[in-house]
Amino acid sequence: MPKNELIGKKIHIQGIVQGVGFRPFIYSLASKYHLTGWVRNSSAGVDIVANGSTLNMASFLDEIRINPPPLAKIDQLETIEVEPDSFTDFTIIESHTEEGGFIPISPDIAICPDCLRELFDPADRRYRYPFINCTNCGPRFTIIKDIPYDRPLTTMADFKLCAQCSREYHDPSDRRFHAQPVACADCGPQVWFEAKEHAKITGGEAIQTARHWLKQGKIVAIKGLGGFHLACDATNPAAIDELRRRKRRSEKSFALMVFDSSAAQQFCLISPAERALLESKEKPIVILERKPNCALPAQIAPGLRTLGIMLPYTPLHYLLLEPEADYPQVWVMTSGNLSEEPIAYANSTALSELGEIADGFLLNDREIETRVDDSVIAELRGKPYFFRRSRGYAPTPLRSPYPLREILAVGAELKNTFCLTRGEYAFLSHHIGDLENMETLQAFENSISHYERIFKIDPICLAHDLHADYLSSQYAQKRSQAENLPQVAVQHHHAHLAACLADNLWDSPEAVIGIIFDGTGLGTDGKIWGGEFLIGNYDGFYRPFHLAEYPLPGGDAAIRQPRRLAAAYLWKAGIPWEEDLPPIKALNNQEKSVLLTQLEKSINTPVTSSMGRLFDVVAALLGLRQVINYEAQAAIELENIAVCPEKGKYRFNIEAGVIDPKPLLEEILSDLRNGIQANLVAARFHCSVVEMVRAVCDILRKETGIQKVALSGGVWQNMLLTRQAIEGLEKDNFQVLTHQATPPNDGCIALGQAMIANQQLK
Ligand code: ZN
Ligand code: ZN
Ligand code: FE
Repeated sequence: MPKNELIGKKIHIQGIVQGVGFRPFIYSLASKYHLTGWVRNSSAGVDIVANGSTLNMASFLDEIRINPPPLAKIDQLETIEVEPDSFTDFTIIESHTEEGGFIPISPDIAICPDCLRELFDPADRRYRYPFINCTNCGPRFTIIKDIPYDRPLTTMADFKLCAQCSREYHDPSDRRFHAQPVACADCGPQVWFEAKEHAKITGGEAIQTARHWLKQGKIVAIKGLGGFHLACDATNPAAIDELRRRKRRSEKSFALMVFDSSAAQQFCLISPAERALLESKEKPIVILERKPNCALPAQIAPGLRTLGIMLPYTPLHYLLLEPEADYPQVWVMTSGNLSEEPIAYANSTALSELGEIADGFLLNDREIETRVDDSVIAELRGKPYFFRRSRGYAPTPLRSPYPLREILAVGAELKNTFCLTRGEYAFLSHHIGDLENMETLQAFENSISHYERIFKIDPICLAHDLHADYLSSQYAQKRSQAENLPQVAVQHHHAHLAACLADNLWDSPEAVIGIIFDGTGLGTDGKIWGGEFLIGNYDGFYRPFHLAEYPLPGGDAAIRQPRRLAAAYLWKAGIPWEEDLPPIKALNNQEKSVLLTQLEKSINTPVTSSMGRLFDVVAALLGLRQVINYEAQAAIELENIAVCPEKGKYRFNIEAGVIDPKPLLEEILSDLRNGIQANLVAARFHCSVVEMVRAVCDILRKETGIQKVALSGGVWQNMLLTRQAIEGLEKDNFQVLTHQATPPNDGCIALGQAMIANQQLK
């Protein structure tokens, strides 16, 4: 075909292509390549009709694929040849609505370099305006009330554009063309500072007041992008203690915010990959290793050798943390809530709920429609490894390896997320929280309705955990009855396995070895599982190996008290309760005698094969922690004291599908008696678990020929264990699948449930 022949193309693009500057991008590309025709938004993506020479058309399509706008994500680009029309120019035309169409929505994205430059440019008309944004950055999901994503359907609806903003908004050559949250100091949201018995302060002065109060050691509640933060000076131990006391959060670590990665480098060891994650447009909290000489107070993260650090992600944060001589450039920025409740996001509720915690409030009048917590990641193999997938990532859908029915999976109880599927998309929600109180349950239900509405999903099936008592399972049960929909109960660890597979776009009927190391989950035999080797895929699973069952006296009471757990494990292993053992010392005589009766008569004592519990037991034996203040504290502290490198040492008894830690417990006690340091024992324990994993995988490969291993479950948040296990298994020539875009903890459960339910619907 001659290169200058005139041809016509109809192009349809799917993905995150609206609200991200896609049409002006197409418009300017069309003019670059002398094409005529039009571009428009539709309810299913972006449509283009273009005429031009063969060569120009090819370049145009290449450039769309290769170099789209920063926030765009093209999932599909289809073209069909059409007769060239008689267009004289290229235009952006009116949006088009199709029945049932739906498109993904961009998550909220940190301020872009262009806006940041303008923010600190005295000549710019938005100089120091805390809500500066453009099509390449700013709030999205948190301000969207409904679709289509247009200003009237966002919380920006009440701010009428001034003449200058309006000009930018309507000019296809402007960076703010159709940027829905566009605003300036004349027409947009405003900040103010308020505190009891103080006059309200507005504008730049409000920000300076907040800075000043922080410097004075006070606690300030700051309304951010997805909710409120509670902030204090992270160099001031008294301020941190006071924040812990008022927030009733005694030991769980606090996240920090610093101005830039050089500032972060003063406190932590940062690899180039970690630095890239810190600076990425999603701006997550990154878990980093503290420098040995880090001067920050220990009470930021008691018992840990890591710190969770994030960089500013809104213009307001930049103004707040702006460097200045003598000014603390590192702040505690923790979610604005009372322990365990969802993060506050409305001015009125923040003032009442956080009134006892914060001395002052930095507020603004841009409303948050959907609260979204900060995301938390670590670096693994150069990529983010999620502890919490939320702001900056959700609600970007995960891709499914094949089309899915419309399913609602309601997830687990702790670290809840839910998942709605349609076509090749799985919309895994932002972090909802622990479904243990009314407020969180309300947030869960409201968010489900919101997602169903904006992504046009009408579930034909509900998937939930096998555990019928979870509030999420109860919601599914109620709803499936009310709407007469089928429901699928999914075993917790099977869901973990399926989630890890889906996360790796697994589309083969092959089965893999799933190593699911977890806290708790209900098994198909009614027992509490959590140290499981499963073989399976989306279709089903069997359980060739698991940790031996040990007693959990008092259920949750044992989980909160590793000393009870340790005593129970010793009892079961036939190891005497010697008085000098730390967990035994930590129990009084009456507690011991009650415990003994409970164990002997098996009163209120379920059994568990949980790997998480084994970590708790070892932490108690080492005298690290006898009672926990937050979930998995003992295990986290155990990881944090381990000194590596170390070689595996303790043995598990592997027999007839059961992996018994009895010899391991005995050998640990003998090491302790021989005066071996706790941090060495902790390291040896980690290596021993890895050696056990390798041994069991070797047996399974011999029996089944399976070479692929998937790692899921909350215990795989232990980075020391995870890195060593990957290394060991790869050395043994296994292909190791780890979570990519979802966390290994229960934040992934909903995705796995959806994949399994979809399979059952076939
Ligand atoms: Zn921008
Ligand atoms: Zn304006
Ligand atoms: Fe789990």
